[in-house]
Amino acid sequence: MRHLLRKSLSARLTVLYALLFAAAMVCVAGALYSTIAKVATTQVEQQLLSSSAVYDRLWQQRSRQMQDAAQILAADFGFREAQATADQATLTSALENLKTRLKVSSAFVVGIDGSITGLSEPRLQQEAAGLWDLLDMGRLSGVAVLDGKAQQLVAAPIMAPDLNGWIVFSAAINDAEMTSLERLSAIPLKASVLVKPVGKQWHGAAGIFEHADGRISEAIDLSLKDHTSSFTIDVQDERSIALARPLPSISDDASTALVLVYPRSAVVAQYRQMQIAVALVLVLGLLGVVYATWRTAGRIVMPIAELDKASVRLAAGDAVKVEITGEDEIGRLAASFNHMVSEIEEREKRITHLAFNDTLTGLPNRTMFHQQLEFHLRTIDQQDGILAIYCLDLDHFKSVNDTLGHPIGDALLKAIAGRLTEAARNCFVARLGGDEFVVMQLIAGERRNIERLCREIISAVERPLVIDGHAITPGTSIGIAIAREDGDDIEGLMRSAELALYRAKEAGRGTFCFFEEALNERAQSRRRIEADLRVAIAEGQFELYFQPLFDLKQNRIGSFEALLRWNHPERGMVSPLEFIPIAEETGLITAIGEWALRDACRRATEWPDHVRVAVNVSSVQFRRPGLEATIQQALIMSGLDPQRLEIEITESIFLDNSDETLAVLHRLRAVGVRIALDDFGTGYSSLSYLQSFPFDKIKIDRSFIQDIVTRPGARAIVKAITDLAAAMGMETTAEGVEESDQLAELRNQGCSSVQGFIFSKPVPSGEIAAMLAIAEFGARRAA
Ligand code: C2E
Ligand code: CA
Ligand code: CA
Repeated sequence: MRHLLRKSLSARLTVLYALLFAAAMVCVAGALYSTIAKVATTQVEQQLLSSSAVYDRLWQQRSRQMQDAAQILAADFGFREAQATADQATLTSALENLKTRLKVSSAFVVGIDGSITGLSEPRLQQEAAGLWDLLDMGRLSGVAVLDGKAQQLVAAPIMAPDLNGWIVFSAAINDAEMTSLERLSAIPLKASVLVKPVGKQWHGAAGIFEHADGRISEAIDLSLKDHTSSFTIDVQDERSIALARPLPSISDDASTALVLVYPRSAVVAQYRQMQIAVALVLVLGLLGVVYATWRTAGRIVMPIAELDKASVRLAAGDAVKVEITGEDEIGRLAASFNHMVSEIEEREKRITHLAFNDTLTGLPNRTMFHQQLEFHLRTIDQQDGILAIYCLDLDHFKSVNDTLGHPIGDALLKAIAGRLTEAARNCFVARLGGDEFVVMQLIAGERRNIERLCREIISAVERPLVIDGHAITPGTSIGIAIAREDGDDIEGLMRSAELALYRAKEAGRGTFCFFEEALNERAQSRRRIEADLRVAIAEGQFELYFQPLFDLKQNRIGSFEALLRWNHPERGMVSPLEFIPIAEETGLITAIGEWALRDACRRATEWPDHVRVAVNVSSVQFRRPGLEATIQQALIMSGLDPQRLEIEITESIFLDNSDETLAVLHRLRAVGVRIALDDFGTGYSSLSYLQSFPFDKIKIDRSFIQDIVTRPGARAIVKAITDLAAAMGMETTAEGVEESDQLAELRNQGCSSVQGFIFSKPVPSGEIAAMLAIAEFGARRAA
């Protein structure tokens, strides 16, 4: 109940109104009852008064009747005669006669001489004799106590002619008389006559009282003094209303009173029906008030409750509106609430858009993509078909950003986003950040469809475009992973797609590649090597081996190429072919290359002045700033003559930002450092680079030398290169010479120098001195 009151406004209102109504009704009922009681009492008082008046009249009637009879007898000649002559027999018979006729309890004569006629008992005679004085004083009517009982007494003088005696009649005041009085009344009262001897309490002479206790006595006294006022007494254990009226007394020794009593319950009983009616009205009214208040409060509170419910649901994330109309406060509140709900909805939409969309391109962002992918991964089993993820990034986007500026980079990204959405219709396209995009496709068909989409995307992206006057030819590579086959969760799937993308880029840009498990294994071993490389750098696990380049013109060792060796604590010597690509990818090549440059220069200072050192420099090192400074520092710290340092580069350094690369190369050459073009012939447009930069040397790739004896084509290529280089004033070195007929052919073709196992494998630096000494000796012997 308390819980209900606390929680429900209607309940509280209902209880409040019910209490108010009940209080009002109790007041009304109280007022009504007290009025009823007052009216009833007054009514009873009136009844009691009129009953007492009736008794008065009866009393007087009887007195007169008795007095008339007494006077007639007293005037009777015969009777006077008998009295005068004291004729007892005549007197007694006359008195007896009258006594029967008047129905009085006694009739007697009190003689002047004190004789009593008509009473036989001596005790009574004595009491009657005592009356003389009172009669003589003229007290001829009233109550007197005879034989211990209250009697109505009447007397008349017997004159013969002087006073000779008194005729006295007495009628007992008894219960029967009281009963007849009660019968005369309109209400069921009880009548009693009480007598009070002087100095004593009232006691009953007839009727219901025997003795009246002190309290009742006092009340009777009070009522007698004040003629009309009634009083309440307890009679026979019942609250009653009473009225006392005086009766005339013969003697002054005692007072007499008529007391009429009416029980209170009888008064109230008359109003019982009225009381029941009032109680009924109260109960019905209360029920009515409860019902009406509950209904009304419910009607008032219902919209509030509805608003309350709606706001709870709103807090839980439901955008609910309330259907409350009206122009009152609640109606206005509901309108404001609905307005607030729409505002919240609107704001939520905006926030969601911001949270799930890329601001630049408007495409879904990574968060949204992850959500979508997660959803599809969860439901893919229930669906037919396969879920393909395409990871793509733009080729050379960084250089567009660096050289043309970010606004153009942004414009390019927007254009690409548009092209992707167009090419990959019915697919989910998102931008993950930077120049990374992803396409998610749910396909019913086979792999052929995937390949077709890839080709469409690539050709859409590749269309040249002009932004702000700059002609740009974008390109992209795509890595594909299939859900379930290549990964079960977002991370696994994305890793697979990225590995495939990496592979696609390796395979030459503008292509696509499916994920294969081998890529994963390779990726794992790459990660291991990367971690080991960091340790290797910190702990100095690298060593330089040196391989001689034999100068065919001078017939001596002209230089040594420094080749990195990694002395892995567990795996032994690790080939640079295995770890250099990873060092390049992770950027660790900068630190390793720096060390190689310094160590190579330092070692070279120990060699004869005509012996140069060649150091391989990765294109990654070129892309990072600070390469020039590193080379300068290596030279200064070792004190090596710049002329004796040759750096070997590959064509890949020209792939991005060739202007800056060329400038660096020119500045290095200006200092005296020689530049060799390594692995010549393996790139795509080797010859064009020869035009763009005056290399000091071209190193012809081992693949041509291998076939030089067996394949006429290879021989022709080597011949063309040596001739071209000679014409442009560049030296040539043949790499990987292993056999003497290869050497003979190269010598024949006018190659400047040779390098290969035919002379020596790469050796630790400690073996160089001996090697140089033997070579010197051999050369001298040949000379
Ligand atoms: P590269 O610059 O073409 O080096 C020549 C490679 O051919 C060396 O392999 C060498 O041992 C090998 N070689 C020499 N003569 C013969 C021969 O007659 N027959 C055969 N089969 N091979 C021969 P290595 O030492 O394993 O180095 C591999 C590649 O690693 C190098 O190719 C170079 O690109 C890279 N590399 C080595 N050291 C460094 C370095 O310090 N920095 C950079 N950036 N790359 C390096
Ligand atoms: Ca090399
Ligand atoms: Ca090479």
